[in-house]
Amino acid sequence: MSHQLSPVDNCRPGPSDLAVLRAKLHEDRQFRLQQLADIARITSAVVKTTSASDIAAHNEVRDKLEVAGRTALAETEAALARMDVKRYGRCGRCGGAISLQRLFAHPQARYCARCQLILEMQR
Ligand SMILES: [Zn+2]
Repeated sequence: MSHQLSPVDNCRPGPSDLAVLRAKLHEDRQFRLQQLADIARITSAVVKTTSASDIAAHNEVRDKLEVAGRTALAETEAALARMDVKRYGRCGRCGGAISLQRLFAHPQARYCARCQLILEMQR
């Protein structure tokens, strides 16, 4: 899907931008839900066919995948919730606008690029 960015970057997303971003977020949400369902399904198949030590190793990988999947799902749902309360596209740290370019690359973005960098350096 190609979408023409609004002419002025760094402005709030317009209605057509929001529609595209919302569709991307819904698509991502579906993907994450499917991924989590697949993880659960594969786990029950593995338990039937493998040894206890293999199951332990599998469970470790599964837990990591599941945490990553749940974290990504939570970020996506939080972005959709921000859209619903008209807070989408505003940085959660400085309150400034998150650039449209950044939102299209990462629709779940909670922070502007500058704040994201600062937060990562503080870790
Ligand atoms: Zn910021």
